[in-house]
Amino acid sequence: MSVANYETVGQRAAELIAKADRILVVSHIAPDGDAIGSMLALGHILRQLGKTNVTLACDDGVPDKLAFLPGATAVVTSVSGSFDLVIVVDCSDERRGGGVFRAAAVGRPLVINIDHHITNTDFGDVNIVQPDTVATTEILFLLAAAWGVTLDKDTAQCLLTGLVTDTLCFRTANATAGVMRIVTDLMQAGADLSSITSRTVNRRSYDAICYWGRLLQSIDLVDGVVSVRTSSNDHAVNGDASVVTLLITAEEADMAASFVETDDGQVEVSLRAKPGFDVAQIAFKLRGGGHSAAAGCTVDGSLDQVADQVLAMMKRARREQACA
Ligand code: AMP
Ligand code: MN
Ligand code: MN
Repeated sequence: MSVANYETVGQRAAELIAKADRILVVSHIAPDGDAIGSMLALGHILRQLGKTNVTLACDDGVPDKLAFLPGATAVVTSVSGSFDLVIVVDCSDERRGGGVFRAAAVGRPLVINIDHHITNTDFGDVNIVQPDTVATTEILFLLAAAWGVTLDKDTAQCLLTGLVTDTLCFRTANATAGVMRIVTDLMQAGADLSSITSRTVNRRSYDAICYWGRLLQSIDLVDGVVSVRTSSNDHAVNGDASVVTLLITAEEADMAASFVETDDGQVEVSLRAKPGFDVAQIAFKLRGGGHSAAAGCTVDGSLDQVADQVLAMMKRARREQACA
């Protein structure tokens, strides 16, 4: 999207923000660095715009490894009362906003939806959805510029965290020269790249590594799709482990999947694709979402039933995409 478009849609968002007294910022359940980075950065930006009544909420709170981010202690996990405006960041649909979004929606507030998932459902009154950006924090960087906000060190640190985590530290295919220019601007504003990488992409718990070991016992590679599945899951470390990010590095694979059975008859599915392949549409068909290279969904059913169904969809999509 061009700068002119950012100014138009950013202007509409700025008008809603200017009129609002009570603002709620929501990011997605099971939050990652972009979800928390976006929520905290937007909190700092809103305060610079003169907003004094801003609540930051996420059902699952701030993961320990992101607690170093400035402002993280202000995040709440439930909300009460009414809001004039809810700004939802890094969520492809309302369900991703979890219980805090559902609770706030009862009062019918205006909703601004700021996101970069290709599968976004445009659920807001104002939708700032940019699938060509690497992270929601990239959109916030551009919006802050359109709003005339000068980035301070804390805001820059939160914005850079989203860029680092969603690009696996600039290893994804969408890490362009333009993105690296934003990185430079953020570092000049005071963001500390080394502290972010050492606390996020270069770090996981010992338990998460042991969990990898257990999951990898089920590894399977068929028709260019590599996968693992488990019913003896460890939810405390599952998000931290992100074993699928390791699987997609297999030279022989174009797509990767992990299947983790929950205690309530569902399977959490994480999907990855090499450049030139797309797993977002598979996740979307299963009521999930994501990006062409990384997507996910939660599907009702038993482990083997869901895994077999999704793997069949992936193999068909891979064949079609290889021919396209
Ligand atoms: P993950 O595999 O959990 O790292 O997620 C990869 C991408 O898919 C992220 O961009 C998530 O936002 C998205 N995603 C994961 N699970 C879901 C879901 N249940 N619904 C919508 N999007 C999802
Ligand atoms: Mn996210
Ligand atoms: Mn994101």
